[in-house]
Amino acid sequence: MKRKFDWSEYIEFDTKKFEIVTSALGVKRIYAMGLMPVRGVEGFRKLDYEFAEKKLDVIEVMNKLDECHFNVFGLVIKDTDGACVWDTDLGWNPTERDILGEFCDAGKDRNIKIMVSFTSMNDAYQGNLNPERVSVHGKNGKKYGIKYRKGDISTHDEGEMRIDLPENVSFKEYKAKVPFLTENIDKKQGKVRGARGTGYIPSTSFMCPNSAHVDYLVDLIKEVVKNYPIKAFTADYIRYDGSFTDVCACSRCIKKFRAEFGEKAKILKSNDWIEFKTNTIANYARKVQTAVKDIDKNCLTGWYSQVGPKKLVTLKRHGQDWKKLSSILDISIPMEYPYLAGTRDDGIFWGLIGDFFYWYFVRNMKKRIHEYKGPVLAVTNSVECNVQEMLKQMRTFDFGLGIAVFKYFGTTDAQWIALKEYAEKEIGLENLIIN
Ligand SMILES: [Zn+2]
Repeated sequence: MKRKFDWSEYIEFDTKKFEIVTSALGVKRIYAMGLMPVRGVEGFRKLDYEFAEKKLDVIEVMNKLDECHFNVFGLVIKDTDGACVWDTDLGWNPTERDILGEFCDAGKDRNIKIMVSFTSMNDAYQGNLNPERVSVHGKNGKKYGIKYRKGDISTHDEGEMRIDLPENVSFKEYKAKVPFLTENIDKKQGKVRGARGTGYIPSTSFMCPNSAHVDYLVDLIKEVVKNYPIKAFTADYIRYDGSFTDVCACSRCIKKFRAEFGEKAKILKSNDWIEFKTNTIANYARKVQTAVKDIDKNCLTGWYSQVGPKKLVTLKRHGQDWKKLSSILDISIPMEYPYLAGTRDDGIFWGLIGDFFYWYFVRNMKKRIHEYKGPVLAVTNSVECNVQEMLKQMRTFDFGLGIAVFKYFGTTDAQWIALKEYAEKEIGLENLIIN
């Protein structure tokens, strides 16, 4: 196995802990591919329920993964829209299909284990249904041209995804199905990450992590782990909204903060406030861990780690303390997507932007990977970058456990060939066989 970097001098956790993960999955190394069923057939700029409902071919997907030697399949069972793509009594499933169940069945006949990814605090549907559970702004501000005031809930236009109306369906009819749809339309496509989609703009909400939303999430987690033979449950968006510095300042959070840190402790701008935010997210992580392990102690847990500057971004904005979270959940999954910032395929300038972010992401990991106290499995992107960029990321960010790639739809034919070769020539098929 060729690896571009030897990360061992930067890693501080006991790499023997990798065995917790590999033995639970029955593999020597992980080679995972992710799929987002509601984001359509190309990148991830669309929210496309018609595709998930009518066109997603589960068997075709699993055959392709088999052919390219993937041994873990990561399914996004709940995306930022809030849709739950399993047979649920508690959540909202606009696809009217048990996509998770279909993949579990297809995985049984193959050497592919099922891992699920579950968006936690970002939930457009729940934000629309339960506005009292949405995060609240702690000060006046302006972002993306929209003004908000202290005390407003943090429901805003979605930055990434756009919606096309299905044929012969009116806006009004579609809004009855997708209540968080707005009448605003994005017509122009740009090269900056947030401007690549076109179509109707949905709203989105980051929910308050001290609200009843957490109880709702825990109930969904129990439903999934109880009813499906999954091998790993990973929590995405296990954090506050990174776009704002002033959430959540709702009355629940302020009351709890004052009770724990005293009446004089400063809201928004203090180390106490940061501590409160990271404790809040760690508390949710503990609930995830308990909910999963109480039902299936062999099911692994994980969390998605936003990389970047420690104090200003991951602690202050996201409330993600890597040490705390990696001590609670089994696998830490840093999201290493430098070439999502720009790809050479869009021209020299965008290639340089991608290269800069690549350099920064490597530097960030060298500086910070010691903060993880347990196994690390990076996820990197195949979409919206070229073969060379994809392979460069895969080689660099394999920290010893293997690599996860996302996402299935949008990966080009040339990239599929490269992915297959990577398994055969660089990981070695003997390392990917499931025992
Ligand atoms: Zn709150």
